[in-house]
Amino acid sequence: MRIVLPLRQHVGAPCQSIVEAGDEVKRGQLIAKPTGLGANIHASVNGEVVEVTEQAIVIESKGEVIFDDYVRLTGEDHLELIAEAGIVGAGGAGFPAHVKFKANLEGGYVIANAAECEPLLKHNMKLLRDNPELVVRGIKYVMDITGASHGYIAIKPKHKEEMIALAKACKGYEGIELKYLPDMYPAGDERVIVREILGVELPLGALPSEAKAVISNVETLKNVTRAIEDKMPVINKDLTVTGRVNDEKVFMDIPLGTSIKGYIEESGGYLEPHGEIVAGGPFTGKHAEEDDPVVKTLGGIIVTMPFPQDARKFGFLECECGAQKDRLTQIAEGMGVKEIVGSVRCKRMEEIGDTGRFRCTLPGHCPGQAEKVLELKKMGAEAIIVGTCED
Ligand code: SF4
Repeated sequence: MRIVLPLRQHVGAPCQSIVEAGDEVKRGQLIAKPTGLGANIHASVNGEVVEVTEQAIVIESKGEVIFDDYVRLTGEDHLELIAEAGIVGAGGAGFPAHVKFKANLEGGYVIANAAECEPLLKHNMKLLRDNPELVVRGIKYVMDITGASHGYIAIKPKHKEEMIALAKACKGYEGIELKYLPDMYPAGDERVIVREILGVELPLGALPSEAKAVISNVETLKNVTRAIEDKMPVINKDLTVTGRVNDEKVFMDIPLGTSIKGYIEESGGYLEPHGEIVAGGPFTGKHAEEDDPVVKTLGGIIVTMPFPQDARKFGFLECECGAQKDRLTQIAEGMGVKEIVGSVRCKRMEEIGDTGRFRCTLPGHCPGQAEKVLELKKMGAEAIIVGTCED
C-alpha cells in the first residue's frame, strides 16, 4: 500500500523532510519537521520511503497496520508532547495546537467544539458516543496547560445520546460542563461559539483568546489525550464517507496518507450516477480526486450527484462560512457554464482593514440577499450559484 503524507497539513509553511528515499521507517517515527509555524509529521505505517518531493513523502507500507504498534513520543511536559505529536486542528482549520494552547487563560475557558456543524458528517458524534472520556480528559489537560478555570463542551441539544455519554464522562471533573449551541449553520464557527456560549461579540478578525478562550475540535482534544497518556503522535484520522456511495460509513482511526479511494470502496463503492468527490463538508469542502490522501484536516468525503449541465450566464454569491469564489468556480466548471458575469459577497462580509481578507460580521444571522441578486442581474446574470448558508 502506498502512503502519501503531504508536507503541508497545517496552517503555516510546509514541513522539511528528515528522511530520504530508501529509508526504512516505523509507524509513529518523526519524518518531517516544521520550518516555521507548523507541526511535526510522522510515518503512519511501517515501510520504506520511496519518494520525497517538495510536496510529500511517499512510503510503501510493509505488513499490517496495528493501531497500538508505533514509536512513542519521548517528551514529558504536556505542551511539549502536544508539539512533538504534531497536533493541528482536526476539524479542518489545521492550526498547530501547541501554538494555540500556549496561552495564559487564567479564569478563562477551554471550549470543546462539538458542533459537527457541516451537514452529513458524523465522525465527531461517533467519537462522543464511543469515547467521550478521551475528549473530557483532553479538555482537562488543556485547562491545566492554559490555567483556564472553565471547560465547556459546545454541542447542539439534538445530539441527546452524545450529551448523555458526555455528561457521564464529565462526572468527577470540576469545572467541565455541557453548553448548548443553536441548531444552525455555522454554529461551529469560533466567533459564533464565543457569542453563543460566552455572550461576547468578537470584533472582525479577533481570536477567541480576546475573550479568554481557546476553542478546539473534539477530535483534536482526543489527539491531546493520546499524546499525553499514550505518547501517540498524530498518525490517524476519523472520517465520514457519505453521499452517492452504496453504504455510507464512519471510519475511526484510519492511517493518515491512505488514499480516499479505498474508503469509498469500503463504503460499497459509488452509487450511480455519481458526480465529483468533495473533501470536507457540503458548505466548505473542496473538489478532491480519488488518489488524494487522508490528511490531518480532512473532515469527510462526500460523493455528489452529477452536476446539472447549464450553459446560461451565471453570477456567484459568496459567503464567509460557505462557498467562496474558488469553490463556486469549480462548481460552475463542473456545470459547463460558459460565462461568469461576476461574483459578489454577502452584504455582511467586511474587509479586515486593507488586508483583502473578508469576514462575516454576524455569522448565522444571515440577511436576505435580494439586493445582491439584483446587482448580479444588472451585470447580466441569468442564474446564480449561491454559496451563502441561509436564504
Ligand atoms: S451573514 Fe452572510 S457571510 Fe455571514 S454566514 Fe450568513 S450568508 Fe454567510
